[in-house]
Amino acid sequence: MRFASLGSGSRGNATLISQGKTTILVDCGFSARETEKRLRRFGLTSSDLSAILVTHEHADHIGGVRVLSQKFNIPVYATPGTAACLPTEVMPHIHEFSCHETFVVNDIEVSPFPVPHDAREPSQFVFHNGDFRLGILTDVGFITPLIESALTLCDGLMLEANHDMAMLDQGEYPEYLKQRVGGRFGHLNNVQSAELLAKIDTSRLQHIVAMHISEKNNSPALVKPLFADALNCTPDWIGIAEQDAGFDWRELKKA
Ligand SMILES: [Zn+2]
Ligand SMILES: [Zn+2]
Repeated sequence: MRFASLGSGSRGNATLISQGKTTILVDCGFSARETEKRLRRFGLTSSDLSAILVTHEHADHIGGVRVLSQKFNIPVYATPGTAACLPTEVMPHIHEFSCHETFVVNDIEVSPFPVPHDAREPSQFVFHNGDFRLGILTDVGFITPLIESALTLCDGLMLEANHDMAMLDQGEYPEYLKQRVGGRFGHLNNVQSAELLAKIDTSRLQHIVAMHISEKNNSPALVKPLFADALNCTPDWIGIAEQDAGFDWRELKKA
């Protein structure tokens, strides 16, 4: 199983999960044209996508979903709450899933789990293929026991490190936005994410990538040492998902 990012952050998110002939796009927060441009970097086109999984209806996660699903007849997986917020043109392509039930997209098993965030019915995912577990967690206000149990013993992990608390506090965001981002239904700060890493079993971890990093209220230089401390590794082992560049394929391999 391998994974990559077309870009990650408040200006758009899209993540590739690939196994055999199956390629899943998790969220599509860029326009259809921009998504296709970014897919080409990986030698892919939209017609290579087996499915689009939508975590929640915020604009930075659904920007290209309508056009891509219509144009290329791509199935769109979403919870009923998220599906209800998508444009009506997407409805013929929707496969609703329950946040508490594993489903299958061709070669990949998908276990969703609910998360606290200011959307209708947001979910995040663990992907598995029999050998490996790959977790993704972004757009989450606080860590719940369910999140901890979902993400323990993952072989790969993409984990939000949205903001540094002091930078958000002292930064240029208006007060309401500071409250939203830093609140219980906003985004994970660096310390919350590092605490999660320190708490769960990371003994199988081959890859960790920090995701949805704020360009205004955070920096990779702050994230890397915190994550490295929590994982007892060197800071340069911590991967960073960038807004424009995303990150290149990372593969889960047998020892
Ligand atoms: Zn987001
Ligand atoms: Zn969101």
